[in-house]
Amino acid sequence: MTEKTTLYIVPTPIGNLQDITLRALDVLKQVDLIGAEDTRNSGKLLKHFSISTPMVSYHKFNEQARAEFFLEKLAAGKNIAIISDAGTPGISDPAEIIVKKAIEKGYRVECLPGATAFVPALVISGLGSQRFQFVGFLPNKKKEQEKLLTSLKLEQATLIFYEAPHRIYKFLQIIKEFLGNRKIAVARELTKLHETVYRGKLQEFLDKQIELILKGEFVIVVEGARETEISDERILQELNKQLEQGKTKKDAVKYVTEKWQIAKNRVYKLGLEL
Ligand code: SAM
Repeated sequence: MTEKTTLYIVPTPIGNLQDITLRALDVLKQVDLIGAEDTRNSGKLLKHFSISTPMVSYHKFNEQARAEFFLEKLAAGKNIAIISDAGTPGISDPAEIIVKKAIEKGYRVECLPGATAFVPALVISGLGSQRFQFVGFLPNKKKEQEKLLTSLKLEQATLIFYEAPHRIYKFLQIIKEFLGNRKIAVARELTKLHETVYRGKLQEFLDKQIELILKGEFVIVVEGARETEISDERILQELNKQLEQGKTKKDAVKYVTEKWQIAKNRVYKLGLEL
C-alpha cells in the first residue's frame, strides 16, 4: 500500500476463486472501506478470504451519490477499494465516475491488474489479438445499436462484445446483419468448470451447425473488417472529403491508407480518378 490516500480499483475473480491476486487480498484487507457492486455477493468472497473490511454498495443506480460519499472519505484520509461482482471494475461495470472525480481532486488512483473476461476470450479466440476494440454490451435501443454497428463496419481491429445468454442468438443475428458472415469465437464460462470456446462463422452458429449451450456467461469475439470490405466508392468519398478539407492529393492518400490500413497502391490508383 502507498502512503498517499488512494482509491484502489481491485479486480475479483470471474469464476475461479484462485484468480484473486495476493496483492488484491492485501489491499482489500488494508483499506478503510470497500465499495462493492453487490455487498451480498462480495460478502461471500470477502468471507472466503477472511477479510472483514467494511463495505458499502456502489452500483449503477447510486454511482453519482456514492462518488461524493467516497470523495468525503478520501478527503478524511481514508483509503478506498472498489470491487464489482466479477472481473475488473470499470469494464462494463461501475468505476468510471469515481475514478474521474478522484483524479480531478488530485487523489492517487491505482488499478490492480487482474481478472477480466475479455482478455482471455480475445487471446483464445484464435482471431487477431494485435489490434482489438472492446465494445462490451450493445446498447438496448435499436437506433443506438444501429449507429454503433454501422460505425464498426469498417473497423479492422478484432471486436469484443459481452452478451447475456438469453440474447445470444438475437445478438448474433444483428451482428451478421451489420458486419456480414464473419469468423467469430464465443467464449463461455471462462475460468469455470464448463469453460468452452466455440469457433466458426456467424452463419454456422445461426444454422445451429455449431450449437451453443445457452447457460452461463459469454464473451463474443468477432474478426475485424477485411480490406476488401471497404468499397472503392467509400475510399473515393473519403479522399474527396480530405481534399475538400484542404489536404493535397498525396496527403489525402496517405491519410486514407493509414486510417483503414489498406494498400497504398489501391488508394493511389483511385486517387488518380479524381
Ligand atoms: N467487469 C467484468 C470484466 O472485467 O470482464 C465484466 C462485467 S459485465 C457486467 C458481465 C459480463 O462479462 C457477462 O455478461 C459476460 O459477458 C462477461 N463475463 C463475465 N464473466 C465471464 C466468464 N466467466 N466467462 C465469460 N464471460 C464472462
